[in-house]
Amino acid sequence: MPFTKLGLSEAMVHGVKAMGYVEPTPIQLRVIPSILAGQDVIGSAQTGTGKTAAFALPILSQLGSHAPGPRVLVLEPTRELAAQVETAFRDLARFTDLRVAVVYGGVGYGVQTSAMRSGVDVLVATPGRLLDHLQRGTFKLDAVQFLVLDEADRMLDMGFLPDVRRIVERCPRQRHTSLFSATIPPEIDSLVKWAMKSPQTVEIGMRRRPAETVKHVIYPVADDQKADLLRDLLERVNYDSVIVFCRTKHRADRIGMMLRKNNHAVAVLHSNRTQREREDALRGFRDGRFEVLVATDIAARGLDIANVSHVINFDVPQHPEDYVHRIGRTGRAEASGDAFTLMVAEDESHVRAIERFIGQQVERVKLGDFTYRYTRLFEQPKAGEATATTVQKVRGARIRGGYFYGPVRRRR
Ligand code: AMP
Repeated sequence: MPFTKLGLSEAMVHGVKAMGYVEPTPIQLRVIPSILAGQDVIGSAQTGTGKTAAFALPILSQLGSHAPGPRVLVLEPTRELAAQVETAFRDLARFTDLRVAVVYGGVGYGVQTSAMRSGVDVLVATPGRLLDHLQRGTFKLDAVQFLVLDEADRMLDMGFLPDVRRIVERCPRQRHTSLFSATIPPEIDSLVKWAMKSPQTVEIGMRRRPAETVKHVIYPVADDQKADLLRDLLERVNYDSVIVFCRTKHRADRIGMMLRKNNHAVAVLHSNRTQREREDALRGFRDGRFEVLVATDIAARGLDIANVSHVINFDVPQHPEDYVHRIGRTGRAEASGDAFTLMVAEDESHVRAIERFIGQQVERVKLGDFTYRYTRLFEQPKAGEATATTVQKVRGARIRGGYFYGPVRRRR
């Protein structure tokens, strides 16, 4: 079904055309008609599915032209996501006179306050800074007609739910509410019951599975060789841009430093960096100034970074759904991408949990010509278990050095 048949306003149809979208994505097909019909919606879909436009288009369609507001409030867990969603709203609303603003912490209040005082239709915000503004009396939320709680599970992880509730209490009861969340743990379920009216759940199939276009493999390695393997991988992989995920800020800094020493143009993104540093890292990565972005999970989740050719999990994600989110950075917009996960012996149970979650085994591979030290991960598998010994040639892999295909030698 084309965008023209979904009941969107003419300005929105022009907007999607200008963005180069040819047809709606599955989540857009399901969510747009529901929001247009005034139905509260709970949406879950993989990252990179077009989730933002799925709520932005039907909401903008119903706003008409500029009026006192804000009439739309979108809550986001991080500043980067807030900035990204603001840009999406602006882009889609380019053929209207609607005004979009964003407020988040880490920057001064001045620009945000004057933007809000001059009148905006759509406000995208992180909870903490929004509450600060409300307490200062910069503006009120009593004109809000559409409330969007985006990445609700991440807001829960980050401890924002009490703030979210305080904000929802300041919005009119008579409103449309939509909530997007990869998972619905009990805390989100109670938020849903409290904040939403008979919501319809839209779950896009294969939410648990990584995009089909992503080729993902595991590199078993001894703990003390992880950094060496990463360095060699980056030397041999023919990448355009790569995100390296680390478990902690400290590791992200350390890896960033090591890669810089190896002459890679590296940016580091985590929550201890200043807002200016974070913006600079993202901008530089997007415009190609940095070829490698080393990031912690919280800092990078959900960010729409285009054309990432490779994702490397320097650390195995602790939560299976984070694996899907992380490798969702690549293989976007139908470009095929490669995702590599470095695995050490103590990651075994996490990797098993990931494989159960995604319903498939991830191939174990070895990098050719890398002098591996022993790890018990190279032991002969039990029947049915995938290991490096069972690896088939990986089609389309962009490794210049080639994979190791021979049997793994057992330690005597
Ligand atoms: P999101 O899941 O909202 O982060 O969107 C992921 C990416 O898909 C963004 O770069 C969007 O601009 C893009 N996108 C959204 N809808 C469509 C569509 N219908 N066709 C092509 N690209 C889209």
